[in-house]
Amino acid sequence: MQQILKDLVELQSLDIKLAEIQSLRGDLPHQVKELERELAVAEKKVSDSEKRLQDFQVEKSNNEREIKELEQKKDKYQKQLFSVKSNREYDAVTMEIEQVNTFISDKESRVLEIIDKLEELTKTIEDEKQVFEKLKGQYKSKKDALDKKIKETEKDEAYLNDQIDKIQRKIPPRHLALYKRIKNAKGGLAVVPVVRKSCGGCYKNLPPQKVLEIRKMNQIHLCEVCGRILVWDEKINEEVK
Ligand SMILES: [Zn+2]
Repeated sequence: MQQILKDLVELQSLDIKLAEIQSLRGDLPHQVKELERELAVAEKKVSDSEKRLQDFQVEKSNNEREIKELEQKKDKYQKQLFSVKSNREYDAVTMEIEQVNTFISDKESRVLEIIDKLEELTKTIEDEKQVFEKLKGQYKSKKDALDKKIKETEKDEAYLNDQIDKIQRKIPPRHLALYKRIKNAKGGLAVVPVVRKSCGGCYKNLPPQKVLEIRKMNQIHLCEVCGRILVWDEKINEEVK
């Protein structure tokens, strides 16, 4: 029985180490995923703005082309003025010229508006690109850290799993099942030492008779409060004396 208890203590310490490694890795994948999402949003912002910039550039050159065409039309009308044969015809051509002038002026104001928007957007794109680059740097360093951690912990994890396997094979199935049942129910902690005459899991004070019994390490004792397996650890009790 002493050996079984010692093996259970060893198994518990290996299981704790394994859980620690897994929890270390646990946070980084989440951070990397979050940065990946932010990076995609930032990238989309830049490409949306660039698309809007392009649309404005197309609109600007369309307007400029139309202004040129209107100017040609105006020239044509102005030449016509020299060859009109009646006042009515003169008035009609003059009205056409006025109308063309209005169109030209509308389009010129629109071009000025677009020039302002292009300036504004160019600045916005610069800022958005800066945000993107900053996120990219953060993402890269987190991703590298995660890859490194995975590489590191993979080895440790494999080693621990191997050790756990070996020790589990030494423990009788009945005791191993008890250990696993308590471990799953009690947040990973199934075997606890007696500390200052109390349960090391729930800190419930233990009767002196029970402490003496546990100290013998020749029987499985469960804490009456938390149900964990109580063991005696000479080192811990030397330290707290
Ligand atoms: Zn307890």
